[in-house]
Amino acid sequence: MDQVSWLKRRKRGIKDSKKREMPDGLWRKCEGCGEIVYHKELERNLWTCNKCGYHFRLQANQYRDILVDPGSFVELLSGIESTDPLEFVDSKKYSDRLTAAKKKTGHNSAVLTGSGRLGGHLAMLALLDFGFLGGSMGSVMGEKIARLTRMAIEERVPLITLSSTGGARMQEGILSLMQMAKTSAMLARLHDEGLLHVAIQAHPTTGGVTASFASLGDVIIAEPGALIGFAGPRVIQQTIREDLPEGFQRSEFLMEHGMIDIVVHRKELKDVVVKVLDFFTNDGPDRAEDTLGQARKQGL
Ligand SMILES: [Zn+2]
Repeated sequence: MDQVSWLKRRKRGIKDSKKREMPDGLWRKCEGCGEIVYHKELERNLWTCNKCGYHFRLQANQYRDILVDPGSFVELLSGIESTDPLEFVDSKKYSDRLTAAKKKTGHNSAVLTGSGRLGGHLAMLALLDFGFLGGSMGSVMGEKIARLTRMAIEERVPLITLSSTGGARMQEGILSLMQMAKTSAMLARLHDEGLLHVAIQAHPTTGGVTASFASLGDVIIAEPGALIGFAGPRVIQQTIREDLPEGFQRSEFLMEHGMIDIVVHRKELKDVVVKVLDFFTNDGPDRAEDTLGQARKQGL
């Protein structure tokens, strides 16, 4: 059904339930251009609109499937779970929010961590999930990223982070802000070891994550149209009392101003990351195995 006839049906007041309007989620409305796009077509295009290029938000699992060679992902550090040290309550208890987020996403935290191969290159991956409390960074995310970075150093392999987040997790207070320093310190060690960090920024990448590991990539890749920044545009506008330029804090604008190295369509994301790995590492598919084997032999 095209969009016009759908609208007409709506106007005639046919009260189809959402389920009957969209059997099995057959199609979705694009948030970019408002066109109705078939689910299958969206899936084929890796959840991007082929009319306007809008990138739908993805879960960590979906990014894993896009980036990693089939069957090569091994989840690591999945047992680390958040506690509620401040016994924080806003409109709901933080502990209840955690339970709901775990149930919704099937993960224990807002970051999926593991090792996998990309075009044959072995790498450590940390993929943030916006669906888990806005992909916010609390103690667990910080700890998982710090430990994963240490594993990358031990195994002598690159680290790939993919961010989609509202920033620090306010329910954990200062413990959450501390993770900015912790992840940054561990990434400095990775850098000193001469190892590569590719940071991918998806919509949105904001707050304490932007101000720490997401901006510390040797190569920083962003998805088109992603909102990337520390404070939001409204806060900045109110503070400096000036109109902000068009496209402010969007990936294209940030690339023009040197904050981002390259803006990449999701359909080319894996190819570009593999090219970066090809260029910056000398461990081809076979070498990676050797390096890992040697590291293990040395008891690292
Ligand atoms: Zn669209």
